[in-house]
Amino acid sequence: MTQPDHRDGDRLLWRSGTLVPWRSATIHVGAVGHCSVSAAFEGIHAYWDPDREQLNVFRLREHLDRMLDSVRLGHLVTTFDAASLATATGELLRANGYRSDTYVRPYCFPQGDLREQMVPAGTATEVVIDSWPMRSRLGTDASCTVAVSSWTRFGTNVMPPRIKAFSNYHPGRLGNIEARARGADWPLFLNQTGMLTESSGANVGLVKDGVLSTPAVSDGVLPGITRATVLGLARDELGLTTQERSIERTELYTADEVFLLGTSAEILAVTAVDGLTVGDGKAGPVTRGIEEVYQDVVRGRRDRYAHWLTPVWT
Ligand code: PMP
Repeated sequence: MTQPDHRDGDRLLWRSGTLVPWRSATIHVGAVGHCSVSAAFEGIHAYWDPDREQLNVFRLREHLDRMLDSVRLGHLVTTFDAASLATATGELLRANGYRSDTYVRPYCFPQGDLREQMVPAGTATEVVIDSWPMRSRLGTDASCTVAVSSWTRFGTNVMPPRIKAFSNYHPGRLGNIEARARGADWPLFLNQTGMLTESSGANVGLVKDGVLSTPAVSDGVLPGITRATVLGLARDELGLTTQERSIERTELYTADEVFLLGTSAEILAVTAVDGLTVGDGKAGPVTRGIEEVYQDVVRGRRDRYAHWLTPVWT
């Protein structure tokens, strides 16, 4: 059976408790604007396990918990808890018939045609879960280049980077545009004190003399679930020393290896920073080692980490 091409809108989405055709999941045009500014969201990857013919959502509960944290930090309220959203995610993915790598996008936003610029605390919300096919790049030798952005990362007392809200992505968009204009794929942002933070949609790690370092959450990064996964796998499976600390920009230029890490980025080798080649210009041995273990885990080949996988098909 061939799977319909759900990118064309030929799919269902879950909207506040009901599965609805993507095409009819509309809102009034007046709801675009102030409602969307406050919206919190998540990006989740489900991976196909060809051996067991199973689709597994990776760290679903951690993503849903983080979305509910973002909802709380944004003073929104929802009646849905993580358990009911996890059930809804499974229901949605089954209803769409997915049997390949899939992206899951839940979001929570104030409901209705709000005229108030500052959406008040406690406004009623909707939760939507959308999903579409997204092929994994793991094992494909994909890589990217980065440029340190002239845009400063917002600090925790400006727009807390821990809140995964759509509004937090405006500076990221400006950074992306600047990076592309400078011939790089992605930006890396420094914080107000000049310390490295993250990219527009991914965390960053670097390797020097066998030690894996990533910026501390307190330097202003989203506490990435891939970041947490990779720090654990690097220690427990590869025996690496890991550090979460303040990292200077110049460390990027002398690192043996640099990579991006995130739900969409997965483990993505960085081959050049600001035009300076990293290592020999290819994914280094630590990056490849981490990618291999990560791929095994998400594809269900490491039983020890089976608790991170939520099977879709029963
Ligand atoms: N930082 C930002 C700004 C992001 O958008 C993402 C993607 N969610 C990440 C880091 C990586 O987080 P995760 O590994 O949880 O996807």
